[in-house]
Amino acid sequence: MPDALVVRGVTAGYGSSRVLRDVDLTVRSGAITCLLGANGAGKTTLVRVVSGLITPVAGGVTVDGAALLGTPPWHRVRAGLGTSLQENIVFPGVSVRQNLLLAGRGLRRRARNERAAELLDLFPALAGRVDVRAGALSGGEQRMLSVAMALTPRPTVLMLDEPSIGLSPVMVETIFDRLRHVRDATGTSILLAEQNAMAALAISEEAYVLRSGSVVAHRPAAELRTSEQVMALL
Ligand code: ATP
Repeated sequence: MPDALVVRGVTAGYGSSRVLRDVDLTVRSGAITCLLGANGAGKTTLVRVVSGLITPVAGGVTVDGAALLGTPPWHRVRAGLGTSLQENIVFPGVSVRQNLLLAGRGLRRRARNERAAELLDLFPALAGRVDVRAGALSGGEQRMLSVAMALTPRPTVLMLDEPSIGLSPVMVETIFDRLRHVRDATGTSILLAEQNAMAALAISEEAYVLRSGSVVAHRPAAELRTSEQVMALL
């Protein structure tokens, strides 16, 4: 089975400024892998390269063995990449159910309804809120909804940019527990870009540490269990 996501030799930035330098990273099939780094280390830039929002100067990305380079973001969704960006991308004016149906708009009506029901099973906190306008949800509920929407096309790999940002510690735990459940229940591989290292490590098998745009460590997550060990790398 090919690795779910492979990033090889990626150098990228904005205009003439280089943010990422020769980044290599692999998410194995069925694994949760976190990408840790301080503010400004380049995590979001790597997420943008993988999702196709930025074209790298060098290097390539494969999902499930298929090269993505040069393909636009919507092709990458079809190739099996799900992305949940830092901004919660939900439609605030319509209900949770409508949001899930909109995320499945490429499906036939019956499949769309079935998929929405499956996602509500994966996120029971949303199931009690199906008729609530997405804009009236709490920040944590909106984050869950945006993750559920990214999962609608059954991606091979789900990439999340700082899902913990702006949430209470209890909500972070709830969402991360759900991510692990999604992986266990569906086999979806996950790349988790996070500043909240301890929360991310608790659900990950492998960790990469990015510092000033370069990978400075790649370890089994179990080897990075104390904040001192992590702080020494960031
Ligand atoms: P954060 O936790 O703040 O999101 P990060 O690790 O995701 O940090 P990036 O957002 O990738 O880091 O930023 C890496 C570097 O790229 C920073 O120096 C930042 O100033 C710069 N940068 C980010 N976005 C842009 C942009 N649109 N144009 C120019 N420079 C940018």
